[in-house]
Amino acid sequence: MDMEIFRRIPFEKFRYAHLQGWGEPLLNPNIIEMVEFAKAKGCRVGITTNGLLLDEFAEDLVKAGIDLVAVSIASADEKTHRKIRGCKLSDLLENIRMLSNIRGKPKITLVTMMLKDTINDLPKFVEMAKDVGADEVIANNLDYIPSPDLTGLEVFSEKENREVLNVIRKAEELAKRLGISFFAKPIKLEEALVCAEDPISSCLITVDGHVSPCVYAHLPTRSDEIIRVFRGKVVRVRKRYFGSLVEEDFEKVWKCKEYKDFRARFERRKRAIDEFLVLELPELPDVCKTCYKAYSV
Ligand code: SF4
Repeated sequence: MDMEIFRRIPFEKFRYAHLQGWGEPLLNPNIIEMVEFAKAKGCRVGITTNGLLLDEFAEDLVKAGIDLVAVSIASADEKTHRKIRGCKLSDLLENIRMLSNIRGKPKITLVTMMLKDTINDLPKFVEMAKDVGADEVIANNLDYIPSPDLTGLEVFSEKENREVLNVIRKAEELAKRLGISFFAKPIKLEEALVCAEDPISSCLITVDGHVSPCVYAHLPTRSDEIIRVFRGKVVRVRKRYFGSLVEEDFEKVWKCKEYKDFRARFERRKRAIDEFLVLELPELPDVCKTCYKAYSV
């Protein structure tokens, strides 16, 4: 994203901005200026990075006042990490250790994806996080499956897998003992009233300025379609966005009828929790029907 589009984002209206979509934020030459810009508007700021350039950027990120640095790591096992990510885990860990030793450091979160190949290493992952000075571990699911060859790697299913659950519990207990936070996504598919991306009060601004509910509704591809594998089937859905900051003011896009209607469905679904008798829950919007986030994982 270039600075011209970035400056049109009304950060003063948001509590938190995560400067990342599907790419690597530290490859953006303006990343430090972006953090400073959003912070100056009173917004908390974070990034998710693959950590490879942290040695170069750590000092400047801290000086810019970044609040959260999440580092995405495939596995606590050197061989597995290298196989999945194509880089050395030990170098990455050095970079994180370095960041954690800087005075005024941000919150450091290590993020991993729970896959059938990596789930057993989760307790080891927690130990590793403590060792490098991280504050938190987040274990995500493979919640977007772009092609059939990646199906079957996910650990979530219609029925909670006991073995996976035991590993997660073990990792959770260990984190508690070591004094770091731990959060693992649910592993049972269950329709959520509102997904964890919280489209009621959050949004995604894409690199080209599109305003969309979330990263799952708008991928950085040339096509206007998203291809997903959902419950074993390849599905195609139209990207969902409601306007562009290149042409309009954010406020105008946020308040347009279509976007308001989209959010209203989730608002009505959320209200259903408090209502005594819910006769019919509003349907999920089309783009959400085949998104795993709508099913809690
Ligand atoms: S259900 Fe999926 S596509 Fe819909 S708002 Fe949530 S994360 Fe985005």
